Formats: sequence, C-alpha cells, structure tokens
Amino acid sequence: MPTYGYRCEKCDLVFRDLVTISKRNDPVDCENEDCDGKANRDKDAELALSGGSHHKWITENERWSMSMGVPQASLAEYRKKFPNSTYNDKGDLLIKSRKDKLRQAKERGFVELNDNR
Ligand SMILES: [Zn+2]
Repeated sequence: MPTYGYRCEKCDLVFRDLVTISKRNDPVDCENEDCDGKANRDKDAELALSGGSHHKWITENERWSMSMGVPQASLAEYRKKFPNSTYNDKGDLLIKSRKDKLRQAKERGFVELNDNR
C-alpha cells in the first residue's frame, strides 16, 4: 500500500500513513495517542515528509524535530551556539509548541513556510 501525508486538525501533528488508494482522501485517526482528533490528507505534509523531515512526539506538547536538527558531530557546537535549545543525542531539536518552533526557526535564520495557519 502507498503512504500518504496527513495533518491532524486537532493537534496539528503531521505524519504518514499506509492507506489503500481508494481511501487515501478519507480522514484517518490521529497518530498521537494522547489525541482523539481526525487527520486529513495534506499535500504540504506529504511533500515535507517525503523530504525525510518529520516530528516525533515525546509528550502531548513536545516533539523532536529532525528537520531542525543538526548532525551528531556538530552537537557540542550547536549546544553552545543556542544555549536555550535542547537537543537529544541524535541531534534532533526539542520543539515545545508552534510558537517555540517559530522562535527557534527564526533564531537559526530558517524561513518558516505556512506559519500563519
Ligand atoms: Zn491529533
């Protein structure tokens, strides 16, 4: 079965799901186990996820961002450079909320697409 990208309308989690082609545009249950929301197919999410970047939930409001992470070899350097940020040992960046994500993206000079949604 092919995989498609979905975005939860309740918690905004973006994830991939295996779905039959005929059901690809139907809403699916959110992947976040603390959320009872429905996720709809999202072309932006699909695009972002096919680039290999995604978020992994830690708790309801915190997630590791692989897309804003750094290579393990640069971890020490980045921990010094951005002392207000938390990285795990893989170099993924801790994101606490959408607002926090935007702050950290701006701090790094990243352009944040669709941040007004
Ligand atoms: Zn959700």
